[in-house]
Amino acid sequence: MDKPNLKDMTLEEIEGFISDLGKEKYRAKQIMKWLYQSGTTSFDEMTNLSKDFRDGMNNIVRISTLEIVETQTSKDGTKKVLFKLEDGNFIESVLIPGANHWTLCISTQVGCMIGCRFCLTGMYGFKRNLLPSEITDQITMLRFNTPEGENVKNIVMMGMGEPLENYDNTLKAIRIMTTDCGLAISNRRITLSTCGIAPMIHRLGKDTCVNLAISLNTPDDETRNYLMPINKKYPLETLIKACREYPMPRRRRITFEYILIEGVNTSREDAERLARLLRGIRCKLNLIPYNEYPGSVFRTPAEVDIEAFRKILIKHNYIATIRASRGGDILAACGQLSGR
Ligand code: SAH
Ligand code: SF4
Repeated sequence: MDKPNLKDMTLEEIEGFISDLGKEKYRAKQIMKWLYQSGTTSFDEMTNLSKDFRDGMNNIVRISTLEIVETQTSKDGTKKVLFKLEDGNFIESVLIPGANHWTLCISTQVGCMIGCRFCLTGMYGFKRNLLPSEITDQITMLRFNTPEGENVKNIVMMGMGEPLENYDNTLKAIRIMTTDCGLAISNRRITLSTCGIAPMIHRLGKDTCVNLAISLNTPDDETRNYLMPINKKYPLETLIKACREYPMPRRRRITFEYILIEGVNTSREDAERLARLLRGIRCKLNLIPYNEYPGSVFRTPAEVDIEAFRKILIKHNYIATIRASRGGDILAACGQLSGR
């Protein structure tokens, strides 16, 4: 367990590592292809490398895996996968079916320390950050061990945890995901969702080109302070400024996620303020009716109220969709992951 893990290394790091061993740089790409494009978990299988090199590597580095403990399938086809980490902690990923492909929602931390009032993950507290390997292995393991995983097209970082609170590991995982000889997923197909760590949004924009989603949930600071304590540190003005400055290729939009909670953030005035707040930002709004769970304090609004809220945004020329709740019966819906 003390040996460094190859799957925690980016291409550049593997190149550096093997050049220290006197090996050619291009071997790093071969190794990465074995790991991420063949799903190889042992050096023995890397047949285009010499036996000596393989044995040498085997002595000084290791290749991690995640254990798939359980897969639950919802009535709507959504699958929730429970993984066991090497230290015995558990995390969850969710496979969401689409017309021809799947979207995979992955975790970035064991638990979360932000503590949003509506979120079950937050309620269970925080254990630790995930390593880059633990983030990408959710994709790799499913890709090579399940038929659904083979057909994953989109990755969303919306599972357990706040990715921007685990920035370095998340960034490294994104590099491994997007590298040609790695998981080879286009950054257009990757979305990072954050509760709004404004300075890290700036950094993310400099370091990568992935899609950005913001868990916004209300257009006023008072309500947001109550729902999401992070807002006291990075209030709406700071957050929205970071969003306006996030560099985006043409035709892309920031996604603002808005959980509709009965009696809290669903009034006509809320919708009007939201429209004013986001004016001029190339964005789309994802309205998520609050998912209730056993013991939850909030309620899902009535269908008519959800539709009325959406109509106001449409009137102001926003793209606003209502996200159908997925996997609620197996606690796989947004904010319901707990790793237990
Ligand atoms: N920490 C990041 C990424 C994962 S959070 C973030 O906050 O963006 C998971 C997503 O589920 C967030 O978009 C959050 O707004 C949503 N969510 C949490 N609890 C929910 C609930 N009870 N009902 C509906 N959506 C919820
Ligand atoms: Fe953490 Fe996101 Fe849940 Fe808030 S909504 S507690 S940031 S996982």
